[in-house]
Amino acid sequence: IPPPAALEVDDLTVVYGGSVLALDGVSLRVPDGAVVALLGANGAGKSTLLRAISGTLSLHGGSVRRGTVAFDGVPSTGRSAADVVAAGIVHVPEGRRVFTALSVEENLRAGQLGPGRHGRGAYRESLEQVHSLFPVLAERRRQAAGLLSGGEQQMLALGRALMSRPRMLLLDEPSLGLAPQMVEQIAGIVRRIHEQGVGVLLVEQNAALALQLADEAYVLEVGRVGLSGTSEELSRSDEVRRLYLGER
Ligand code: ATP
Repeated sequence: IPPPAALEVDDLTVVYGGSVLALDGVSLRVPDGAVVALLGANGAGKSTLLRAISGTLSLHGGSVRRGTVAFDGVPSTGRSAADVVAAGIVHVPEGRRVFTALSVEENLRAGQLGPGRHGRGAYRESLEQVHSLFPVLAERRRQAAGLLSGGEQQMLALGRALMSRPRMLLLDEPSLGLAPQMVEQIAGIVRRIHEQGVGVLLVEQNAALALQLADEAYVLEVGRVGLSGTSEELSRSDEVRRLYLGER
C-alpha cells in the first residue's frame, strides 16, 4: 500500500448557491513534492477544485456536498482557510491579487505566517529566498505593487505565497495574459519551486506548458475527471492532442 499522498481528494462534489453542480465526484492525488496539472475547458471546475482544497469555497457561495479532501491522510473537509495555510497548502488564485497600494515588501510581509511560527530570523531567511528567486522583487521592494507589470505582479503573488514556506502551492492560471517571455520566466520559477521539494497543483489553460512542467495530469470535463495519467501518457492521448494541444 503506498503511503498517503500529501493531498488526496476523494469523490468531491461541490455546488454553488445550493443547486449549481460544479464538481461531481472528483478524485485526485498530489504526491509529496510532485507537480500535478489540472487541464480542462472554461467552466470545467478547475478553480472550484482549488477553492475546495484551500477552504475558500464559501467566499464564493459554494459548498461541499459530498466527498473529502485529506492532507497526509487526515480528512480536512470543513477546515478553515487559515488552517489550510497552517497545514502548508497555499492557494494563489487567478488574477494575481496583490495589494496594489502597499509596497512590494509589505506584500511579501503579508504572506508570512504569524510571528514566531518559524522562529526568529525566519522572515529574513524567507525574504532572501524569495529575492533570490525573483530579483526584481528586491530591486523594487519599496515601490507600490500597483506599479509593477502584470508579470511582475504574478511574481509577487508567487513570492508572497512562498513567504509562508508552503509544502504545496495551488496555482490558478499563473501564465494567464502574460507575454510569451514572461510565461517562460514563470515556468522557470515553477521548476525551481518543484526542485525545492514544494508540491504544485497547477491549473493552466496552456496545456502544452502544463504537461511540460507536470509529472502527472488530470483533465476535468464539466465537473468530472475525464482522463488522468502521467504527463507523457496524456501528451500521447489523441483526445488531449486534439482538444488541448491544438493538434489535428
Ligand atoms: P475558468 O477557467 O473559466 O475559471 P474553471 O474550470 O476554473 O473555468 P470554475 O470557475 O471552477 O471552472 O467553474 C465551474 C462551474 O461553476 C461553472 O459552471 C461556473 O459557471 C460555476 N461557478 C463558478 N464560480 C461560481 C460562483 N461563484 N457562483 C456560481 N457558480 C459558479
